[in-house]
Amino acid sequence: MVSLAFTEKPHAVCVPYPAQGHINPMLKLAKILHYKGFHITFVNTEYNHKRLLKSRGPDSLNSLPSFQFKTITDGLPESDIDATQHIPSLCASTQKHCLAPFRNLLLKLNDTTSSHVPPVTCIVSDGVMSFTLDAAAELGIPDVLFWTTSACGFMGYAQYRHLIEKGLTPLKDESYLTNGHLDTIIDWIPGMKGIRLRDLPSFVTTTDRDNIMLNFAIVEAERAQRASAVILNTFDALEHEVLEGLSTMYPSICSIGPLQLLVNQIPDNNYKLIGSNLWKEEAVCIEWLDKREPNSVIYVNFGSIAFMTSNQLIEFAWGLANSKQAFLWIIRPDLVRGDLAVLPPEFLEETKERGLLANWCSQEEVLCHPSIGGFLTHSGWNSTLESMCEGVPMISWPFSGEQQTNCRYTCIEWGIGMEILSDAKRGEIESLVRELMVGEKGQKLKKKAIEWKKLTKEAIGLTGSSFVNLDKIINQVLLTST
Ligand code: UDP
Repeated sequence: MVSLAFTEKPHAVCVPYPAQGHINPMLKLAKILHYKGFHITFVNTEYNHKRLLKSRGPDSLNSLPSFQFKTITDGLPESDIDATQHIPSLCASTQKHCLAPFRNLLLKLNDTTSSHVPPVTCIVSDGVMSFTLDAAAELGIPDVLFWTTSACGFMGYAQYRHLIEKGLTPLKDESYLTNGHLDTIIDWIPGMKGIRLRDLPSFVTTTDRDNIMLNFAIVEAERAQRASAVILNTFDALEHEVLEGLSTMYPSICSIGPLQLLVNQIPDNNYKLIGSNLWKEEAVCIEWLDKREPNSVIYVNFGSIAFMTSNQLIEFAWGLANSKQAFLWIIRPDLVRGDLAVLPPEFLEETKERGLLANWCSQEEVLCHPSIGGFLTHSGWNSTLESMCEGVPMISWPFSGEQQTNCRYTCIEWGIGMEILSDAKRGEIESLVRELMVGEKGQKLKKKAIEWKKLTKEAIGLTGSSFVNLDKIINQVLLTST
């Protein structure tokens, strides 16, 4: 990757939505912009900043000159720690309360009497932190919105208003969950084929017209029309048709992923020192994987937000145990909502030689480990893309939001996954895990996953679509006010 030289540095303020799956890709993009010559201010919420300091230590945030971290409030009461994991509360709060502190931060950054950084020249903010558009307009600088979803997921949200107008959502009553309504084929979304209502981002299954997430998505997707450009962490070969469909609605949209591959091209090791994991990574995971055979371990992780009941946890436990496959299972401390994640002692005894349980890991390191043969995932977009970059096939247990859409594309369009039903029972889990790891279908999915892995690399090569798009966004949008 080539870095640019400027007489005066352009200054990008990067504003992720305050959740793990949004901070990670934004940090990658911020590092790339920094490497290309930008001064970076990375804006976390006060609460997440404290968590980062705790999980990674202060040094990890100071390893690059011209790369600073600043904070704003998420607007939630300080004691309300649980709400930061409750996405509707967090969305309602950021939408309502973040603009004022963000404006103040920009004022401070631009105050030459007290600030020692170049004036702010552009904003790159999460697609669902669109309050930044108002601040950017006031300063007359570009604001690029980074939707950290797949293109198919973003398209799903962008259709919510039409779905309401056509009477497809909200559901008239709970009976519509089971009466076949969710199997209605939606054949009018540009770039999407054979999609069913149930495959669209999950808030369409609400019966409540005032559902916070349904309305939040509508507002945010519509405000994206005002952005200087919309960017997505995906690549053209993967989602070409949906991207084309989106470009009829958002003319300046483009794909710039997978960002993890672009950031890994940066040769300077100091970039690796800045991390974004809000939980502490357990090094034992890699040490344990080092002792296993190639392609022999199924990695199980449901990301940073999904939660399950203790009954579901037990079904997964016995499904894994009965599959007789080796597994690395990350059980986040709050994976079982309102309860301690307690696993049966018989399960622990039976799997102690071939299973490792941990609270959190460095997922990218795990996924590129040669002993990983499959990934049982909730189909969060980062997890899906990270798995694809390493050629790892998946079993998908979508939890919420666009994970449902990612699951559909992973299993049907891209041919690299199998879906587990939402009320997964141990027998189904056992047979899918076995099929993925040692069955014929698993072999097919693996082969296809390796093909996609090659295409991820092509996308970020010197003439690849994402590489070219990112350069265009930098030169034709982010640098236009400097
Ligand atoms: N992650 C990680 N270690 C874990 C669990 C998750 O590093 O033990 C990272 C993972 O690599 C990904 C992000 O957290 O970048 C989760 O994002 P995703 O979109 O997959 O799901 P979400 O957490 O937003 O539901």
